[in-house]
Amino acid sequence: MERRAAHAMLFPFPCSGHINPTLKLAELLHSRGVYVTFVNTEHNHERLLLTTGGLRLRGRDGFRFEAVPDGLSEEDRRSPDRTFRLYQSLKRSCGAPLVALARRLGEREDDGVPVPPVTCVVLSGLVSFALDAAEELAVPAFVLWGTSACGFVCTLRLRQLRERGYAPLKDESYLTNGYLDTPIDWIAGIPPVRLGDVSSFVRTLDPQCFALRVEEDEANSCARARGLILNTFEDLEPDVLDALRAEFPQVYTIGPLAAAMHAAAHDGGDNPGAAAGLSLWEEDAACVAWLDAQAPGSVMYISFGSLAVMSPEQLAELAWGLAATGRPFLWAVRPGLVAGDRGADALPEEFLEATRGRCFIAEWCAQEQVLRHPAVGGFLTHSGWNSTTESIWCGVPMVCWPGFADQYINAKYTCGEWGVGLRLDEALRREQVAAHVEEMMGDADRAREMRRSAARWKAAAEAATAPGGSSFQSLGRLVEELRLGAD
Ligand code: UDP
Repeated sequence: MERRAAHAMLFPFPCSGHINPTLKLAELLHSRGVYVTFVNTEHNHERLLLTTGGLRLRGRDGFRFEAVPDGLSEEDRRSPDRTFRLYQSLKRSCGAPLVALARRLGEREDDGVPVPPVTCVVLSGLVSFALDAAEELAVPAFVLWGTSACGFVCTLRLRQLRERGYAPLKDESYLTNGYLDTPIDWIAGIPPVRLGDVSSFVRTLDPQCFALRVEEDEANSCARARGLILNTFEDLEPDVLDALRAEFPQVYTIGPLAAAMHAAAHDGGDNPGAAAGLSLWEEDAACVAWLDAQAPGSVMYISFGSLAVMSPEQLAELAWGLAATGRPFLWAVRPGLVAGDRGADALPEEFLEATRGRCFIAEWCAQEQVLRHPAVGGFLTHSGWNSTTESIWCGVPMVCWPGFADQYINAKYTCGEWGVGLRLDEALRREQVAAHVEEMMGDADRAREMRRSAARWKAAAEAATAPGGSSFQSLGRLVEELRLGAD
């Protein structure tokens, strides 16, 4: 019997931290023969048209882009609360358009050849309503949960933390009175951690625990999916993956996705990567030319991803800490990084003057290219999971300043379990910034040990994603499962 083509419709939560890994997964599936439809929101589709000139959004044989409305008003988009409003709006209004789109796709043709019907839905975290869409379409759903396995397990356990009374906090004083240091030693697969490191969502005073419930519900709803896909690899988080499989039998560890893409490109796959470089912000190519002129391992790269917002005071502490080191640094200051919808314009003029010649400020960089550059010796990061895995793959040690969601547990593992990081206190101080950057970039024993660990993890990431490695095989099993769904 001839097998039907598997056709995966992928829909990520519309922000870079979700779009980037989902695009990579889409490319990897396509390179293994799966027909792919990647669904953006119309708003992001327009932005991508601007940053890419539209060419790559035309798609290619067996890889198409589509868009659905996100339902946000212009006022919602400008609100400091926009991410949460986006979450609510999608949940309210996006399910029906997704179902309609999937049905329409099955009636279309590509150059006279019928498009195969959608045979599965792949969603990222925070869009669990797409599970209902998959049910309505009577096709299996898979969730690419974009955090570490430890981040996912901690998010699952938010429910127990709430039920056992750890959250919400009784009052504001609990944020600073040491309560967040309460040891939590009962999460299977996770070593003893501070309550504050389990997740940012325990830091709530809201008696309804609204945001916390959203997170725990989203994570727990993954149990409805046919499989859970994680951007990690077996050797990186063995204990927590073991524990997770007791609850979720179908876990596919296919990361680091950046490494998997790189390996596939060299394995003669069908041009994986054509879409994965899509970016919602325009990348500053000049920063790479600037890196070319710097000594190997000399540059500290600083970026806090696509969502983090810091106060002007925190920005100044960081800036003056970097200035005090006398070392070169490349800093991605995206518009909106600073409260009040500000960006690089919020940097003190005297700081720019003091660091002229050894500092490059970009709005947005091609981060993987930057991390792979031989001049980069350290990464000051918010410990977002994509950034962390990209840094692990590139063998770059990290100075961690986590602030949201799973970033605390990622930083805990980065500095503790994996030995490739130094952590900054939550209250950013210029002296500590300077001391950590110096320690990481210098030549003391600890720095050398971190660099050795980083090199070991880089080799492990490459081995996992190379043909025959654990992530490579896991991707193969996932593709097989998608094909079974199509038969
Ligand atoms: N990124 C980038 N250029 C930048 C800053 C970030 O390409 O200047 C990318 C980075 O490579 C990563 C993503 O944006 O893939 C950020 O994801 P992460 O999970 O680290 O953080 P989030 O944005 O979700 O907080």
